[in-house]
Amino acid sequence: MSIFNYREKPGYFRRLGEALKDTREDLSRKINQIIGTEESPITEDQIDELESSLIAADMGVQTTMEIIDQIRELTRSETVVTSHQVRRLIRSELLEILQAPEQAPEEDLVDGLNVILIVGVNGVGKTTTIGKLTRYYQDAGNRVILCAGDTFRAAAIEQLDIWARRTGSEVIKQKAGADPAAVLFDAIAAGRSRQANVLLVDTAGRLHNKDNLMKELEKMKRVAGREVPGAPHQVFLILDATTGQNGLIQAREFLRVIGTTGLIVTKLDGTARGGIVVAIAKELKVPIRFVGVGEKVEDLLPFDPESFVDGLLGTRAVAGRSVS
Ligand code: GDP
Repeated sequence: MSIFNYREKPGYFRRLGEALKDTREDLSRKINQIIGTEESPITEDQIDELESSLIAADMGVQTTMEIIDQIRELTRSETVVTSHQVRRLIRSELLEILQAPEQAPEEDLVDGLNVILIVGVNGVGKTTTIGKLTRYYQDAGNRVILCAGDTFRAAAIEQLDIWARRTGSEVIKQKAGADPAAVLFDAIAAGRSRQANVLLVDTAGRLHNKDNLMKELEKMKRVAGREVPGAPHQVFLILDATTGQNGLIQAREFLRVIGTTGLIVTKLDGTARGGIVVAIAKELKVPIRFVGVGEKVEDLLPFDPESFVDGLLGTRAVAGRSVS
């Protein structure tokens, strides 16, 4: 299924809209209050208030300043700037930042075994997301197998087991403390012999120190590449929307050392500052591929920028209103 068809997928808009409800209510209501829905001129005070609202939604200073500069420019070139123009300007600015991926995540899969590393610090929702991804790829017709690569925490292996049972998939594991690269080696062999085509690899989010963690992840990458041509095919970095701008600092470290092909932003349902997704895309310049919208196995939505922006601003289908 192409990414563009997600807009038509039953329930997609509703679920995204629900997850963004708090952010939308804060942000969109403020926009409505500030600039009004009438075709009325916008004042300098209103522009300042709009600036505060965008910052409060966690859009990031840079994005906010760019939007505000453009609004000011508009007020200079036209005597009357309407709320409609302002909304349209914000929408197109956000869409430019959140560039649309060309295809859906399942369309990125190649023939044979696809090794997908899942990285991120503890607590961001890594294990839960692996469970959801398992279901997602299964629903798209794939055979999925899991690798318990976080051997640092015994609980991580147990948690992954629970998700494997929930999704009817198999997890390849060793005892806590085992070499994760060795577990990965086994999992690749198992994946091949079971004729799986997706191997989702859990990784540690914390070790005794950061250097060790990065070295361990690099070693896993090397082992994957040696065993399967082109592997790892994807490295998904998981970020927690509720940690706001702090998450960006951790993300940069992962990006620098491990590289990342896509981002997954979790817990969008747990924040009134969903604008962080925009700040993440702007700062990291890595495509967002999924968003987590709850704790259940089906609460993972492939990322579609247009739906996201409409959900955030209350425009188009989510609010049943249209913006040209
Ligand atoms: P890990 O330490 O990164 O593996 O994190 P876990 O997968 O154990 O998740 C940590 C907590 O976040 C758990 O309570 C999950 O249920 C919760 N969680 C994960 N993803 C989401 C999400 O998208 N929305 C919400 N509301 N909770 C989530």
